[in-house]
Amino acid sequence: MIQLVRGFRDILPGEAMVWQQVEQAARDRFECFGFSEIRTPVIEQTALFKRSIGEDTDIVEKEMYTFPGSKDTLLTLRPEATASVVRAYIQHKLYAADPVRKLYSIGPMFRRERPQKGRYRQFSQINAEVFGIESPYMDAQLIYMLTRFLDALDVPGLRVHLNSLGCPECRNGYRDALRAVFSGKTDRLCSDCVRRIDRNPLRLLDCKVPGCREVAADAPSMADFLCADCDAHFKTVTAGLDAMGVAYERDPRLVRGLDYYTRTTFEIQTDALGAQSAVAGGGRYDGLVEQLGGPSVPAVGFAIGMDRLVELVMAAQPVLLRPPAVFFAAMGAEAWKRAFQWAGELSDQGIRVEIDFSERSLKALMRRADRLGAQFVLIVGERELEEKTVSLRHMATKAQTAVPVDNLVAVVKEKIWESGV
Ligand SMILES: [Zn+2]
Ligand SMILES: [Zn+2]
Repeated sequence: MIQLVRGFRDILPGEAMVWQQVEQAARDRFECFGFSEIRTPVIEQTALFKRSIGEDTDIVEKEMYTFPGSKDTLLTLRPEATASVVRAYIQHKLYAADPVRKLYSIGPMFRRERPQKGRYRQFSQINAEVFGIESPYMDAQLIYMLTRFLDALDVPGLRVHLNSLGCPECRNGYRDALRAVFSGKTDRLCSDCVRRIDRNPLRLLDCKVPGCREVAADAPSMADFLCADCDAHFKTVTAGLDAMGVAYERDPRLVRGLDYYTRTTFEIQTDALGAQSAVAGGGRYDGLVEQLGGPSVPAVGFAIGMDRLVELVMAAQPVLLRPPAVFFAAMGAEAWKRAFQWAGELSDQGIRVEIDFSERSLKALMRRADRLGAQFVLIVGERELEEKTVSLRHMATKAQTAVPVDNLVAVVKEKIWESGV
């Protein structure tokens, strides 16, 4: 048989319910903070990602699914959401009436990473982006919103890692300092890092190669290079988090894998799945809107990795499919026909129904109802139809009620309501 493509995954029914639950929790929480949803396509022009994420990044150099479009354009399956949302913000002039926009999106991203446990080439993210607010309180509010969202899902062991990458001015001094340190140690660095020292020495700070990590451990810290404005901005972010009781750790190595971040960057990590790993991350990208051809508008946002988040939620709760409220144990042609009609009418009332159309004994049908976790079973046989009453069995108490067929939908609905299902 044909199997699914390596590095991709199916999300099966029980798990899909957890996905829905997580998505709904995000919608509810984000909308409390004034966010509204935006949906952008999964395909964009390759140039959009090259210009935003940065040419020297692993994503753009190695991981994008790129293919020819019409004429000379190259197209790419989006490896992240922010670039697309910024493009839409500019293209539709979402800043025209009011530059402040708070947008969220939920959907799949694509990166050609080496397939390994828990990492997929199609993965899903929940993204939130805020445009037009430079205040550090917005950064703190985003982090607050994110931690409350994860707390409500009972994700254990959460830790907020926080850093400031400064602005283009103060970061230049930091880049120089990094170059000075790294250029003397090229024999210990991987080839990617050696190549990137000149153009983008910050990349080295999040290289995963052990030799590079050792060298990075001795690197100077951005905190010592922040200009007065960036330092004040960062202090207000931390003061805001303190005021809301959000614990955090300063992490001077936190640069995130993208070029567009400025000032605040953060990650929410957990060690709940063994090794410590990030479930969400983000930061400020004050220059990106202008860099992509829009007005000079500050911005800040984050992405939540849904695949890992769902895994964490599933580790904490059993995955159950929603059981039917009414299971029809119907026996015989006439009974199937009547059950078929009643099931339709009950579903119109918002009641979950299931009919077994196979020719089986009542005993076998009851076993199946039990396995599905049905709350009630309606027993419909030829004798019941002749007597014009069917039996409604409450599975938990085993109490059985005779229900007149003429008024079946109303009576069953009443019984379900009474039992508090
Ligand atoms: Zn600065
Ligand atoms: Zn490296």
